[in-house]
Amino acid sequence: YAAKRGKHGYEVWAPDGTPASRDRLETLEQLRAALDSEQLDNHYQPQLDLRTGAVVGVEALVRWNHPDRGLLYPGVFLPLAEQAGLMRRLALRVLERALRDLQIWRSAGHDLSVAVNLSVSNLQDVALPGQVEMLLDACKVPAGALVLEITEDVLMADAARSQQVMAGLRRLGVRLSVDDYGTGYSSLSYLRALPVDELKLDRSFVTHLTTDARAAAIVRSTLQLSRDLGMSMVVEGVEDADSLAALREWGCDVAQGYHISRPMPAERVLSWLTSRPVPAALKPGVRTGD
Ligand code: C2E
Ligand code: MG
Ligand code: MG
Ligand code: MG
Repeated sequence: YAAKRGKHGYEVWAPDGTPASRDRLETLEQLRAALDSEQLDNHYQPQLDLRTGAVVGVEALVRWNHPDRGLLYPGVFLPLAEQAGLMRRLALRVLERALRDLQIWRSAGHDLSVAVNLSVSNLQDVALPGQVEMLLDACKVPAGALVLEITEDVLMADAARSQQVMAGLRRLGVRLSVDDYGTGYSSLSYLRALPVDELKLDRSFVTHLTTDARAAAIVRSTLQLSRDLGMSMVVEGVEDADSLAALREWGCDVAQGYHISRPMPAERVLSWLTSRPVPAALKPGVRTGD
């Protein structure tokens, strides 16, 4: 790994005098250690039901509180974890933390689900369903309150194996969501075959919703498609009130984005839930589109 120049190569681990490979090696050692420490942390971003305005779930997003570099985002360290074969440990770690946090919020009376992202390599791991089952039991969370997000490129690996893993997860009662929908490959053919419950439309379509008629057309037709397939649709990347209002008018089920809330540390979630500002587009009596 140290000598390889990966997709997210050295621009991230900039060589500061020392050879880049040594930097990577050091960072990798730090990441291994972080996986056993409190440095690796979940932040959570709320998801709103657009019909009722209720918060129906949160998405867990991994963060690394690096002792020298500060808060690191997944785009910076996931490629390294992937190359070093650390994704199984990382996924189990994020999952356990997410289920433990969820159990606390559910016991406090909030009927939420939690969505956890999986990588391509996680979907190749036939041990995953059994491990998920154990964690659900240990954390006393019903399987239906867990959503696992996969991306379209799971099928670029070993499709038969990932379908086997997905079927195992589904048998537990866990829900599966296609993340970044519309940006991967063969997005239509697998919809016939794969057991998925939800489409999560990529934010590139959502962010330009009000200024780009083509983006709007894609959002609306995907919404129609998800309905016809009996799936729900989540939109991510809602950054302004106008987009939220339009999505609500079009009958979109669930939305997530900076306009609702940025991702936040676990300890802020309960207070956010009880004192959150209701987006203007969802206030009772406010009609959209006029
Ligand atoms: P994602 O699953 O598509 O997550 C959404 C990303 O968009 C998050 O970035 C989130 O902070 C950001 N976002 C949310 N709302 C908005 C918005 O309104 N505008 C804009 N511009 N961005 C928004 P983040 O946290 O940096 O995560 C990036 C990606 O890293 C995630 O994309 C996901 O693919 C991956 N990831 C995060 N956590 C995990 C994990 O635990 N395991 C795996 N395998 N992947 C993860
Ligand atoms: Mg996601
Ligand atoms: Mg996404
Ligand atoms: Mg993404």
